[in-house]
Amino acid sequence: MMTPLLLNLHGVSCGFGGQPVVQDLSLHLNVGDIACLLGPSGCGKTTCLRAIAGFEPVLGGEIQLAGEIISRPGFTLPPEKRRIGMVFQDYALFPHLSVAENVAFGIRQHPESRRITAELLELVTLDRLGKRYPHELSGGQQQRVALARALAPEPRMLLLDEPFSNLDGELRRRLSKEVRDILKARGTSAILVTHDQEEAFAVSDHVGVFQDGRLQQWDTPYNLYHEPLTPFVASFIGQGYFIRGQLLTPDTVQTELGIINGNRAYNWPVGSPVDVLLRPDDIVPDPAGPLQARVSGKTFLGAATLYRLQLPTGSQLEAVFPSHADHHSGELVGIRIAADHLVLFPAQGSQAVSQALAPRQASSIQP
Ligand code: ATP
Repeated sequence: MMTPLLLNLHGVSCGFGGQPVVQDLSLHLNVGDIACLLGPSGCGKTTCLRAIAGFEPVLGGEIQLAGEIISRPGFTLPPEKRRIGMVFQDYALFPHLSVAENVAFGIRQHPESRRITAELLELVTLDRLGKRYPHELSGGQQQRVALARALAPEPRMLLLDEPFSNLDGELRRRLSKEVRDILKARGTSAILVTHDQEEAFAVSDHVGVFQDGRLQQWDTPYNLYHEPLTPFVASFIGQGYFIRGQLLTPDTVQTELGIINGNRAYNWPVGSPVDVLLRPDDIVPDPAGPLQARVSGKTFLGAATLYRLQLPTGSQLEAVFPSHADHHSGELVGIRIAADHLVLFPAQGSQAVSQALAPRQASSIQP
């Protein structure tokens, strides 16, 4: 049986003062699905969320929820009539209400408000803290209260705007997985905005990658990583970078690093200049490997170390090796390429290979 469609955006443009910030946006969400809008700061993620919530009108296209048009130019169903719950970055709890009163706020008239509140507090593991006030809670606990409050009126879907960005490291990772489990257990559909790829992958069934107000790709995390449709998606997801190459056969490329054989064919003319996607885990240590590279920087990541490597030609590579093999700065290491995924794009411009390899995250690399 097909899962029913819940949300459908078709050719949506929205923005401010009549100027579109998000353009020609089409995406859909099935009942029970969790999706994420991912992209750099200012690309239009929050604007899109606000249009779905009904806080911003659309300038073009239309938004349907459960088959009903909720936004089109000249018509915006008010937010309170959409039955869409919101969770904000700053939790937005009522400071003068207890935890339980916050959760019960949207269902005050409901005859079973006490039971529902108790169940939700248990769901978010705050059943012992119902009498506390928001300022007596940690950030993670406050965000759990905000989630329970948003779920209480049984919304048709939830929108979460950077819900974990005030939390750090481990807590952020843990809470994002917990929230996914809670939403999945209740079958609640949700769209979450983030600029953190790891978070997007941990939480979502589908991810939309935005650049400059345009959706570049709406896909599963797996496909975004393995089948990026544009160079932007390829480099934004998974720390990808490009080296210049030349197509030898539909599935073989000659590069400065040697010949790379891939697992897919490109029907472009033989000899075409191409940009070859590499990720740090495509470079593997191999003492007997065909290439020698010098360590020019490294960042300890825990289980792995991110190395910046320099080839004799001066080109730079990024590579992630298991951290038990600890190479020092200046050391020569043998490497080989293990990139059978072979993602190629027509060569952009005419940069030299060394420019194409300019590190994107130099600031995270310590010499
Ligand atoms: P971030 O990750 O930094 O929150 P975002 O992808 O969510 O960014 P938006 O908040 O949607 O981006 O903003 C998109 C663009 O719209 C930005 O250029 C921003 O300056 C502009 N913008 C946002 N709000 C308004 C507003 N109220 N009036 C005019 N322009 C706005």
